[in-house]
Amino acid sequence: MYEEADVIPTNSVLIKLWEIYRSLEDAAERLSRHHGERLRCVRGCCDCCVDEITVFEVEALHIGSRYAELLREGEPHPEGACAFLDSKGDCRIYDARPYVCRTQGLALRWIDETPEGDLVEMRDICPLNDPGPPVVQLPEEACWTIGPVEEMLAGLQATLAGGELRRVLLRALFRRQD
Ligand code: SF4
Ligand code: SF4
Repeated sequence: MYEEADVIPTNSVLIKLWEIYRSLEDAAERLSRHHGERLRCVRGCCDCCVDEITVFEVEALHIGSRYAELLREGEPHPEGACAFLDSKGDCRIYDARPYVCRTQGLALRWIDETPEGDLVEMRDICPLNDPGPPVVQLPEEACWTIGPVEEMLAGLQATLAGGELRRVLLRALFRRQD
C-alpha cells in the first residue's frame, strides 16, 4: 500500500503538476472541439476506467492532498474496474484525476521502436470513438502525442523522490482494502 511517508510532499511540485494539468487540459479541449461529434466520452462512460492504472507518486500525492477523506474512509470500487469509480460509473476524483485519464478518448500517437531499431509512429483511439476518419490518416496536430507530458511528469517525480521513478497502483491509494 502507498504510504504518504514514502515521499516528501512539496507545494512547489504540486503547483507545477497543476500547471501541467491545466496546460494539457487546454490542449485536450482544443482537440476535443476539433473532433466534434466523433467523441463519445460522456459522464458515466467508463469502459476505459480499468483497474490496472498506475501513476507516478507525484500524481498519487496530488490525489491524496485533495481527497484525503475518501482515501481514508471511502470504499474502493470492487475489483475489475478503477477503484475511484462510484456505483453510477462516475469518477469520484474527477478534478484531481491523473494525466492518463485526461487524454483517454482522444486520437493518440506515439513513436515506437521496432526490434530492428527503426522508429515507427503508432496511432490508437478508444473503440467507441473509432467511427470516423481513420486515425492513421489524421494530421499529426489532430492527435494527442504521448511522450512530452510523460517526460514532464517523470521530471517532477524525480524531483520529489530523489530521482526514483516509482509508480503506484490507483487502487493502492485506499487505506482500507477488503
Ligand atoms: S481516476 Fe477516475 S477517470 Fe481515471 S480511471 Fe479512475 S475513475 Fe476513471
Ligand atoms: S475513452 Fe472511450 S470508454 Fe473512455 S469515456 Fe471516452 S468513449 Fe468512454
